Amino acid sequence: MTQNSPAQTLAYQKAWQRAHLGLRDIWGYEQFRPLQAEIVTQQLLHQDTMALLPTGAGKSICFQLPALLAPGLTIVVSPLIALMENQVAELHQRQVKAALLHSQMGTGLRRGTVRQLESQSLKLLYLSPESLLSEAIWPHLCRSPVRALVIDEAHCLVQWGDSFRPVYRRLGAARLALQMDGGSPGSAGGDRTVAIAAFTATADAKTVAGIQQVLHLRQPQIFRQSPYRPNLFLKVSIAWTPACRRQQLLRFIRAQGQTTGLIYSRSRRECEALATWLHQQGYRTAAYHGGLGSHQRRQLEAGWLEGEIPFVVCTNAFGMGVNKANVRWVCHFRPPLTLAEYVQEVGRGGRDGLPAQALMLVSEPTGWLDPQDRQQRQYFLGQLRSQQQQAQALIKKIPPQGEVAAISRQYPHGALALSLLHSVGRLQWPDPFHYELMPTGRTPQGTLHTHGVTDLPKFINDSQCRWQFILHAFGFCQEAAQLQCGHCDRCCPSPNKSFFSRNIVLRK
Ligand code: ADP
Repeated sequence: MTQNSPAQTLAYQKAWQRAHLGLRDIWGYEQFRPLQAEIVTQQLLHQDTMALLPTGAGKSICFQLPALLAPGLTIVVSPLIALMENQVAELHQRQVKAALLHSQMGTGLRRGTVRQLESQSLKLLYLSPESLLSEAIWPHLCRSPVRALVIDEAHCLVQWGDSFRPVYRRLGAARLALQMDGGSPGSAGGDRTVAIAAFTATADAKTVAGIQQVLHLRQPQIFRQSPYRPNLFLKVSIAWTPACRRQQLLRFIRAQGQTTGLIYSRSRRECEALATWLHQQGYRTAAYHGGLGSHQRRQLEAGWLEGEIPFVVCTNAFGMGVNKANVRWVCHFRPPLTLAEYVQEVGRGGRDGLPAQALMLVSEPTGWLDPQDRQQRQYFLGQLRSQQQQAQALIKKIPPQGEVAAISRQYPHGALALSLLHSVGRLQWPDPFHYELMPTGRTPQGTLHTHGVTDLPKFINDSQCRWQFILHAFGFCQEAAQLQCGHCDRCCPSPNKSFFSRNIVLRK
C-alpha cells in the first residue's frame, strides 16, 4: 500500500507492528496469512475496509484483532446464530470480553449482555442485523463507545436485503447515527467516527458494488483473494431417480469411513426424513434446521464440533462461518439455490488444509424422472417473485417520508418495498428507522432480484473446469485462465491417489 505523507507512512508502520505483536500475544500465531496483516492494519488506522477472502482463510482474526488492540467497542453484524455462538465461544476461550445478542436468547442472558454493554466492559458484540436495529437494543448502542461496525458474511446484505431480511439495507444508516450519538467524549480514544469493515468469501462484482452502495463505504481499501481452494475436490453427479439419489449418497458416505462431514438438503422435512433413513442404515446422525429449538441446535452443533456426531443432515441454517478444521467431505443431497451458497457450503470442508471432497447430487437436466430439484427452485423463485410484486404494488401507496416500523406494521411487505426502492436509488434513510423517497431514480419494474440464482444451473451443466467456472463467476478471470486445476470432475472423473496423498499447505 502506498502512503502519501511521511506521517501517514509512519502511522502505517506503527499499526503494522502492533498488528504483528498482537497476533503473537493474543493468538499465539507466528505469522499472518496472506492479506491478513494488511486488513488488520487498515482497520487499526480506522479506515473503511472490504475483504474478499476464501472460506477458511482466517477472516475472523482480521476484525477481532483490531477490535482488541484499539479502544472502544466493535459491533459485529452476523447473519446466523450458530456462527455468532461459535465465534463468541472461541473468543471466551481466549478470555476476550465478547458477547452476543440474538432473538433466541432467554431474557436473563439478554439482560446480562445489556448490562455488560452499559458498563462498557465489552470489546466485541455480535448481533443479528435485526437485533442491531431493534428498539430494545439501539438506545444502548447509541450510549456505547462504538468504534467499528463489522459486517461478517457481507454478501447476505445484498442477497437477503431484497428478499427476506430487508433490515440489511438499512445498515449503512447505522454508522451516521452511532457516530452522532456515540459514547461519552474521549471514550473511543477521542475519535468518535465509526469505521466499517465488510467481509465475505463470495461476492461477485455486482455484490461488491451493492455492498458499497448500502454501507456508503468511504474510500474503502478493497482486499481480494480468489475463492480457489486447492484441497477441495468438486464433483457433480446426476441422480436419475429419488432412490438412486439415496443410494449414491449412501455409497459416498460409506467411502468416507469414520470421517467428519456434512450433508446439505434444502427443506426441513427432507432433512428429518434423510436423517431418520440414515439412522436406520446404522449411521449416527441428526437433522439440523431452523425449526429446531435453540437448545437442541446448540447440542447438535456441540456434538458435531466435538466429533460425537460424525455428520449432520442440515439446511443452510448450519454452516456459514462455522469453524471445524477436519471436515473431510460435504455432500449436497440437493443443489443450493445460488453459486455463492454452494461455495460457502463446500467451504466447510478441509479448513485444516488437508484434502476434502464435495459431491453434489442433481436431477437429470429435464427433471422428468425426478422433478424435485426443479420444483424446489421454482417454488423459491415463485415466492421471491410474489413478495417482490406485492412490494412493488405498495410503492404507490407509501407516503414520501415516514417511519419504517409504521410501514411494516401497516403492510406485510412494507419493509421489503422500502428496501427495493433503496436498491434502485429511489429512497434514502436519514437514520436507520426513517425513510425519505427521492424524486429521481428508477422505480423497480418487474425485474426479479435473484442475486445469482441463475449461476448454479449453469455451473451444474457447464463443461468447463468447476474451479475455473467459480473463479470466473466471482470476477477472478486472470486466475481462472492460469489455473491448472486437476481436482474437479471436469478435469478428472474422481479424485486420484495423488490428491489424497497431498498435504496441501494452503497457508503458513
Ligand atoms: P474464515 O472466516 O475465513 O472462514 P476463520 O476466521 O474461521 O476462517 O479461520 C479459520 C481458522 O484459521 C481458525 O481456526 C483460525 O484461528 C485460524 N487462523 C486464522 N489466521 C491464522 C494465522 N495467521 N495463523 C494460524 N491460524 C490462523
